[in-house]
Amino acid sequence: VNPVFCKVALDTPLRRCFDYLPPRDAAAPVPGARVLVPFGRQQLVGVVTALADSSDLPVEKLRQVLRVLDATPLLSAADLALLEWAAAYYHHPIGSVFATALPKLLRDGRDPGSPQVFWSITAAGRVWLQDPKSLRAKRQHELLQWLAARDACDEEDLAELLPGWREPARALLAKGFVATTSRQRDVSAPVISAATAGPRLDPDQANAVTAVTNALGQFAAFLLDGVTGSGKTEVYLQLVETVLARGESVLVLCPEIGLAPQLVERFAKRFATPIAALHSGMTDRERLGVWHDAAVGRARILIGTRSAVFTPLPRLGLVIVDEEHDASYKQQEGGFRYSARDLALLRAQQVGVPIVLGSATPSFESLHNVATAKFMPLLLTRRAGNAQPPRLSLVDLRAHAVHKGLSIPLLQAMDRHLAAGAQVLLFINRRGYAPTLICNTCGWIAPCHACDARMTVHQKSQRLSCHHCGAEEKLPERCARCGYEVRPLGHGTERVEETLVERFPGFAIERFDRDKLRQQSQLEGAIDRVHSGEARILVGTQMLTKGHHFPEVALVGVLNADQSLFSTDFRAAERLAQTIVQVAGRAGRADRVGDVLIQTQYPEHPLLQSLLNEGYGGFAAQALVERNTAHWPPYSRLALLRASGVQPDAAIQFLQQAKLLMENPDGVTLQGPIPAAMVRKAGRYYAQLLVESAQRLRLQKYLAEWIEKVEQLPSARKVRWALDVDPLDVF
Ligand code: ADP
Ligand code: ZN
Repeated sequence: VNPVFCKVALDTPLRRCFDYLPPRDAAAPVPGARVLVPFGRQQLVGVVTALADSSDLPVEKLRQVLRVLDATPLLSAADLALLEWAAAYYHHPIGSVFATALPKLLRDGRDPGSPQVFWSITAAGRVWLQDPKSLRAKRQHELLQWLAARDACDEEDLAELLPGWREPARALLAKGFVATTSRQRDVSAPVISAATAGPRLDPDQANAVTAVTNALGQFAAFLLDGVTGSGKTEVYLQLVETVLARGESVLVLCPEIGLAPQLVERFAKRFATPIAALHSGMTDRERLGVWHDAAVGRARILIGTRSAVFTPLPRLGLVIVDEEHDASYKQQEGGFRYSARDLALLRAQQVGVPIVLGSATPSFESLHNVATAKFMPLLLTRRAGNAQPPRLSLVDLRAHAVHKGLSIPLLQAMDRHLAAGAQVLLFINRRGYAPTLICNTCGWIAPCHACDARMTVHQKSQRLSCHHCGAEEKLPERCARCGYEVRPLGHGTERVEETLVERFPGFAIERFDRDKLRQQSQLEGAIDRVHSGEARILVGTQMLTKGHHFPEVALVGVLNADQSLFSTDFRAAERLAQTIVQVAGRAGRADRVGDVLIQTQYPEHPLLQSLLNEGYGGFAAQALVERNTAHWPPYSRLALLRASGVQPDAAIQFLQQAKLLMENPDGVTLQGPIPAAMVRKAGRYYAQLLVESAQRLRLQKYLAEWIEKVEQLPSARKVRWALDVDPLDVF
């Protein structure tokens, strides 16, 4: 009998799988199953990627799998292939890629179908809680109070939210003040009742639906390029209906920041079937539950942010990426910097199903893919129903008086629209009260001590905070240098809100930013107040620019468009245009005609001019010509080796050595190393080395060889480094 070897992906920094022998007295695990294996002195949970009949190591050196955790594979062959491809393409250790793809409890070795145990307070418990004596048992009292405020609580949630809960819980259980119930997870097939009918599609929408429907069952990529409010979501919903009727499931990706709940709600209204929704702000247990619903086919619609792209779905029939241009699809932190949009494309290709990428402001990559016939364009040029396109105009800040960041023309337009009963939305890309605290006398500016950055003033909490490293301190009243008075300089959302309260008494104001809306439930509350009409003026950051459908908003004001007009990053113009068009798209989405006023010091700037005169499409066409001339993506391929060290030169030195590792690379150029745009961040010094090639394959081949060498450099151990393939921010 030939021996069988298990190739196991383990979450270690090494870029390879590890070989193990099957357990002594059990069958070999199937690929895609998790196993518990010895690793050094530890025991680790890993995933079997393949079985092989040979190993690079002699048999006697190999250790045995301790336990097989899944009798049936957790990941299908296609799921495994996607992860292996991702590890190869992003040149990232495969075990770490697998760790990103699995919910934490699965990584910990938990059985996904294990029964859930719920804890709840009993009637006797409620009585005891009223007894002052109960306060003496402090931790028991605390836990009981917590349970009293909730319905039955899942054990795993308790463990995550109230560490150390187990001991008081046992004591309470013995006294009969709490009770437990256990529930098997429902794995029955979902009931899919008829969908609620949607609106009659207009001809453009109908064409789009037909084109994608005709492609079902095979790979095809579509760019649904539809102006804001043109009914892209309706197109998705129609397609999903067809796919569900074929007995298949759908993967819907959406950007971060609170968009998921709204999309989920629209899907839930239309389809009487379980929907698996994966987004930030869920407990580990909730994540596992949703993952499991999707993986066993109980929920046939999966809606989620970035990492949802890895979730298994049996009989996947269609992939949708909403707002495909959104930067949040790219993981920009840590080691595994993948693009969920690009992986979604690959997944559709591997499984052989169509993918629809939707946006009112498509990424230049996607526009280029249309130009090179890789994507089929589906255009929605008009707004759905009676809605008209918004009217954009510029307010020249040099020519008009400005009252605390708000120009007179904007204030007058606000008066007019508010008097007409409409809502007004103001966008300012800065949270906090003011971006700077300055001394009136000596000009001192409050710095972050760990970064090359200024501290942002937060008036309400009376704190200074660094938006780069999170450092915080008390808001000083006096200058640290000369002792005279300091004052906030510039405007953030908090300050604009304060101005609005003074200037528009009687109009309820809703602020949207991360400081105000920390939790999903708070964001949902704010959105509800906008929909109910209670809120009249909305002021906020990017949170407000994305995907919302607020029918009563008739005026949008962009308070500071200028910040990124002169940025050196080659993507800055694309980003700014996308932001402006997206925020403008919040105006006039129903019967009200929308006005958009963009405040700027540079009304003659070519970017603003082409955007106003020719729209996003015209702007993009021009900007793409410039990209081509300058050999930037999508006309070239980039990777960025980023490094940081505690010593000022460590990162640069490491990158210099990395650059010298391979002489005269074929068709690949290395630029740098240069210090990062913000050199010092959170006490570390950052630098980067840019790798560029006209051809993706050349770049890939180079990186594969190069990274193996980079890893071996002694200086690599003195810094933190990460390779970013297809980076978004280059400067
Ligand atoms: P997008 O996703 O492109 O921003 P939505 O799908 O949210 O656009 O559509 C905008 C609004 O128009 C929604 O209220 C939607 O219900 C409505 N709508 C979409 N398509 C139609 C249609 N064919 N007829 C009438 N109303 C429509
Ligand atoms: Zn800082």
